[in-house]
Amino acid sequence: MTPYDYDLIVIGAGSGGVRAARVAGSYGARVALIESSRVGGTCVMRGCVPKKLLVYGAHFAHDLEDMAGFGWSVEGASFDWPALVVAKNRELDRLEGVYRSLLKASHVELIEGRGKLVDPFTVAVEGRKITAEKILIAVGGWPSMPAIPGIEHAITSNEALDLMVMPERILIVGGGYIAVEFAGIFRAFGADVSLVIRKDRVLRGFDDDVRDALTTEMTRQGIHILPETVINRIDKLQDGSYRVKRTPGPDIETDLVMYATGRAPNISGLGLAEAGVRVDARGVVPVDEWNTTNIPSVFAIGDVTGRVELTPVALNEGLNFAETQFNDNPRVMDYNTIPSAVFSSPPIGTVGLTEAAARQRGPVRVYRSRFRPMKHTLSGRAEQTLIKLIVDARSDRVLGCHMVGPEAPEIIQGLAIAMKCGATKAQFDATIGVHPTAAEEFVTLREPVPE
Ligand code: NDP
Repeated sequence: MTPYDYDLIVIGAGSGGVRAARVAGSYGARVALIESSRVGGTCVMRGCVPKKLLVYGAHFAHDLEDMAGFGWSVEGASFDWPALVVAKNRELDRLEGVYRSLLKASHVELIEGRGKLVDPFTVAVEGRKITAEKILIAVGGWPSMPAIPGIEHAITSNEALDLMVMPERILIVGGGYIAVEFAGIFRAFGADVSLVIRKDRVLRGFDDDVRDALTTEMTRQGIHILPETVINRIDKLQDGSYRVKRTPGPDIETDLVMYATGRAPNISGLGLAEAGVRVDARGVVPVDEWNTTNIPSVFAIGDVTGRVELTPVALNEGLNFAETQFNDNPRVMDYNTIPSAVFSSPPIGTVGLTEAAARQRGPVRVYRSRFRPMKHTLSGRAEQTLIKLIVDARSDRVLGCHMVGPEAPEIIQGLAIAMKCGATKAQFDATIGVHPTAAEEFVTLREPVPE
């Protein structure tokens, strides 16, 4: 018998924490999982899942516009926003139930409360102290907003998912994943959307052609993108709307202000200092490839580690941690070639290097295609799809695949497998296309873009 209450205490029942707890539990470890909010964490309760359900809902608005070109007419179509929010919440309740039963089945003890480290082996929760040989910090992140006057009037994605009234006008600050996704959702539902970004373009870090393509399409849909703009203050007006002061430009009046300016590690009150766990200036808990902090008994995974803030990454880190520590099966995460999607309108799928990053490594060939999706030949929608491949000119290996257009997130998953296998452009070319699809463009790109 060990002198500890548990073999593992996990703090945070988000994607990474639940995965680590379940896998460790399945190997016979005695696991306690502490959660102060809902089981499922950001992705399931406040992020990917509810957002995607709203994206599905928003899509019907486009379908209704597009269907006339195919001979359909729908009289008196109407939309009930609260009905969508209620249906979405019902699904989240169901998912939380599923998570809870999965934990039970893996013999993980769920402790509902706020965990606080006391020392490298002890956590205080709900007025008692529990000990474990290993402690895993999987507390994730929380929206962060700049401290400008009136910021208390702004909502974040947390609240945006639960609005019971659809705003007629919304101003969104930020140009990252969350900002562009919500801009697309609110616009499709008919809101007047302004997107304020401090740089010249949205989605820093993405391929420039992707950034430009999305900007074009968002603008075409009527989203007002205000580049190189800084918000100075937000004032609430008597009628309940807001006046937003910005530089440069005149004030903007709006019904709702939403900030999507990044997320910060959720470490407040966690007792990291008490346990001697090092935290960097951003509040990130640095870990090595084995997810170990500077304290050998304390580990961390997911967004709190400031590596790649994506659910599948946290899941993999949680799995690797549990395999390594509880199944004598050492596994480390490969952070190369992680695909990701932005559920903007139209959506983005991307894997591998951007053109700019690839050029820094050596000579490249770039293949690019812009075309009108077949569906829109009849729908009449003026929307272009972008497909782009970046190829190492010396080895012929495909270094990056990017797409902006319908189903891009679904399409990019398969391409990520090809890239993981080290596929070359010649192998892409030797692959038979699936016709008629947009995806077949990836295997029929013949002429590189002239240098
Ligand atoms: P991001 O880090 O993606 O984007 C933050 C945005 O806010 C950037 O455009 C940034 O501008 C801007 N910004 C930061 N600080 C300020 C400020 N003080 N004033 C004005 N603008 C500011 O964060 P998100 O909140 O969008 O998302 C957080 C993370 O969650 C993402 O990085 C992503 O990893 C993950 N996520 C993934 C999704 C998916 O996979 N589909 C969906 C949603 C989130 P600048 O570029 O100039 O720095």
